[in-house]
Amino acid sequence: MKLKNKNILVVGLAVTGVATARFLINRGASVTVADQKKEQEIDSEEPLIREPGIRMELGPHRIETFERADLIVVSPGVPHTISPIRRAKEQGIPVIGEIELASRFITEPIVAVTGTNGKTTTTTLLGKMLEDSGLKVFVGGNIGKPLIAYADGEEKAEIVVIEVSSFQLDTIDTFRANVAVLLNITEDHMDRYPDLDAYTKSKARIFKNQQYNDTAVLNGSDPVVRFLSRDILSRKVFFSSKEEKGVAISDESIISQENMSRLLADFKLPGKHNMENAAAASLAALAAGGTFEGVRTALRKFKGLSHRLEYIETLNGVDFFDDSKATNVDSVAKALETFERPIVLIMGGRNKGSKFHTLRDLIDRHTKELIVIGEAKENIKAELGDIKPVETATTMEEAVFKAYNAAKPGDIVLLSPACASFDMYNSYAQRGEDFCRAVAKQRIDD
Ligand code: ADP
Repeated sequence: MKLKNKNILVVGLAVTGVATARFLINRGASVTVADQKKEQEIDSEEPLIREPGIRMELGPHRIETFERADLIVVSPGVPHTISPIRRAKEQGIPVIGEIELASRFITEPIVAVTGTNGKTTTTTLLGKMLEDSGLKVFVGGNIGKPLIAYADGEEKAEIVVIEVSSFQLDTIDTFRANVAVLLNITEDHMDRYPDLDAYTKSKARIFKNQQYNDTAVLNGSDPVVRFLSRDILSRKVFFSSKEEKGVAISDESIISQENMSRLLADFKLPGKHNMENAAAASLAALAAGGTFEGVRTALRKFKGLSHRLEYIETLNGVDFFDDSKATNVDSVAKALETFERPIVLIMGGRNKGSKFHTLRDLIDRHTKELIVIGEAKENIKAELGDIKPVETATTMEEAVFKAYNAAKPGDIVLLSPACASFDMYNSYAQRGEDFCRAVAKQRIDD
């Protein structure tokens, strides 16, 4: 792909936009970066603004800039359906995403992971399995370093493992994953997709360019995933969680069922969903050249990631768990299903169009009380408030205080919001940290 002297527009700044612009400049392109943010809102990307050769266009998008470009590269944060991009497409201007651009400059095998939930956990674990198998691995994409930064860097790996979001998949064209994992599809991002069908089609694009000798690792317990798997060309391996602890696999060409069970017996994270993540990561790692011993070592060592059903501490017999990353209803469902003991659940935040009422059965069976916070609190109350007592709180500290008061020794206090964090915080991580701080305050006050 020739980039030299091409007039390229990068839409969306942030980490990925910055890395993309750098990559393009390094290859002699003439680069404009357009972002609707105002200058004072982008201080963290400031070094880029001063970089010679990059034209910055902040504030409302100018259609002429889009129509004058030889190529448009869209960052994952920007919907590819916005009107200036649509109009440029209509005029025949190629529009691709950063993953697509990067993949055209990468020759190493690519393992890609997508799904509504569990991407980061599975991608991280998979990376460790391959490292523990003695391979030099790049892990990134939608987590950590963008793929374009890897394509731009000097240091090469033997294998590339990436997490990919549906937004990133929307803007691929020739991107091909040698091993592609689809963990699950449940309703999410209904603020950005018209319906579940559109969101499903986005996710299915991960298999778009796979060939017969590639591998697709698929969740056989997920009806939507099963349905879309009919159109996949590559070797398909399904994993399905069983009622009892364990996972069934559909094809033993990668690993026998017996050996898979042996591997998973060493995995410590709670919940059936984590068993699925572990099975998916193991199958993908083995298909990508990992060894049984490497996979086993990583599974044994893996402690899980922060803010994903993370145990925090026990106060007077009450266990506190931080699941701040649970920003949709299915991740909350999985958290509730994990525990046998009564849960006081802290929910709420910015509503992404979630159908909270789909949790009714699980709320009934697993919780004793709800504490609701943030913009979504009235919606949650309206959809779930007739099942269990609901209290409202204006701060996390108040929410934790009320939850702790409602809990008895042996109960669980769980932050699992089913909402984004941006009404009260910069990120889910900041929300989780605030929860932990509030729990620590209870300890001190006790
Ligand atoms: P993602 O990167 O897809 O957001 P994470 O690994 O960060 O996934 O986990 C996000 C949330 O989803 C956490 O609350 C976690 O406990 C939950 N989760 C993890 N794996 C799964 C799964 N396989 N199915 C449903 N929920 C999951």
